[in-house]
Amino acid sequence: MRGIDVFSRPLEYLTPLGEQVGEIIREWVEKEVIPYRRGFDEDYLEHRLIHPPFKKLLGEYGIQRILFPEDLGGWGLGHSEYLCVAAFRMFEEIARADSGMAVAFGVVFWPLVLICCEPHVNRRLCEEFAPMFMTNEPVFSCLAMTEPQGGSDIENVEVLKGSTIRTVAVRDGDEWVINGHKLWPTNTGGVADLMGVVCTTNPGSRNPEDIAIIFVPADAPGVTQGPAYEKAGMAADKNGDIWFENVRVPLWYRACGPGDDAKYYGEIVSMGNMGSIAFAVGVMLNIYEKLQEYVNRKTYRGMPLKENDAVAGVLADFATTIEAVRIIGYQCARMCDRQDLYGPRWSPEVVARARAHRYFAADRALEAIGKVMNLMECFGPDRDWDVEKHWRDIKMVQLWLGGKQLSQMEVARWFFECETL
Ligand SMILES: Cc1cc2nc3c(=O)[nH]c(=O)nc-3n(C[C@H](O)[C@H](O)[C@H](O)COP(=O)(O)OP(=O)(O)OC[C@H]3O[C@@H](n4cnc5c(N)ncnc54)[C@H](O)[C@@H]3O)c2cc1C
Repeated sequence: MRGIDVFSRPLEYLTPLGEQVGEIIREWVEKEVIPYRRGFDEDYLEHRLIHPPFKKLLGEYGIQRILFPEDLGGWGLGHSEYLCVAAFRMFEEIARADSGMAVAFGVVFWPLVLICCEPHVNRRLCEEFAPMFMTNEPVFSCLAMTEPQGGSDIENVEVLKGSTIRTVAVRDGDEWVINGHKLWPTNTGGVADLMGVVCTTNPGSRNPEDIAIIFVPADAPGVTQGPAYEKAGMAADKNGDIWFENVRVPLWYRACGPGDDAKYYGEIVSMGNMGSIAFAVGVMLNIYEKLQEYVNRKTYRGMPLKENDAVAGVLADFATTIEAVRIIGYQCARMCDRQDLYGPRWSPEVVARARAHRYFAADRALEAIGKVMNLMECFGPDRDWDVEKHWRDIKMVQLWLGGKQLSQMEVARWFFECETL
């Protein structure tokens, strides 16, 4: 049977490092994740099964260090023009086993992008937080944006300019004092060690200089994480509430500074969308493997199911979706890497393109996986086949980062120069 490597990738811009780490991750998922993943749903609170493979990948293999500069013990990927393409490969390999795990993995690096990547490396914060990541124990970061009144408005920086953010950072001498309540950040529910917190320094203000992204160690007095939510899937990604009550951190824990935090927020959005496509691709690759087994093993009138015209049509559509979505995803990653060609990844143009790529990819993946579920009849929802797990998990990719509607608004706004959206 053909394996997952039959699907197209842009060979001309793959990176040796990404490929090497991709192979290591493939071996790790085969041994440490796939045999255990069926138990992950019930493990959403404790992470007894989920923690050990994370410990190996992030801590023992040292992959949590990759973004930090080499002289601080990192791998220097923050400086690489292949960062996103390499990340795409890693994300899809992990998502093939478990997309919740891929999300949790990706978010370890998400807030760190703000301090480790060119052209806005914050050397002092890199020096401050690098030692935390240079350990054999897994370290989890989170990026806390969403609030009880709504997440999309906070991400809609171009139009709302932070005016709806209610988590407030007030300057007191040489410290920030933070108060607020966040919902849903990946890698919370008790696991977060380091938080990037989207705050306002002046509630209601539409001045981008008042948007502040501030790093908060999770053990700072006044930080409380609630338990992990029980959700449809992605149990390896713990999401929960965080409360900040008079939390004090040094002023220099602000990621990039007035104006720049708002500007580089766009980069977070572009990269989050790029990663989301990799999660969808990884999931589809594993479903392809399962589907191969199913249509070869099951028969219809004495022939393998795949030899039936109508079935072959569904198989062709599924393979075509993987082909197309994977290429879109790699192109999105390449666009985020080659800022010299495509413009800065925080620009409204790149943000709009990445949102377009993501929502198209997520919609196509869900549609295609739904058809596979139909084809597999009662084996689709059978947990033994893992397809229903991926189907539940991947719905999430459509919902986050402001969901589809905010993506549509931003895409229309850029391509059609809408003025009121
Ligand atoms: C698995 C998972 C992981 C997550 N990880 C994180 C994380 O790491 N950090 C974090 O901060 N959050 C995270 N979230 C939260 C997620 O990003 C938010 O749920 C999302 O941004 C939407 O916010 P909301 O649920 O508050 O919906 P709202 O923003 O309240 O939106 C409600 C509805 O209005 C629509 N809408 C929004 N804006 C517009 C518009 N301009 N025009 C028309 N319709 C609009 C939305 O699409 C939605 O249908 C995660 C969520 C999930 C499920």
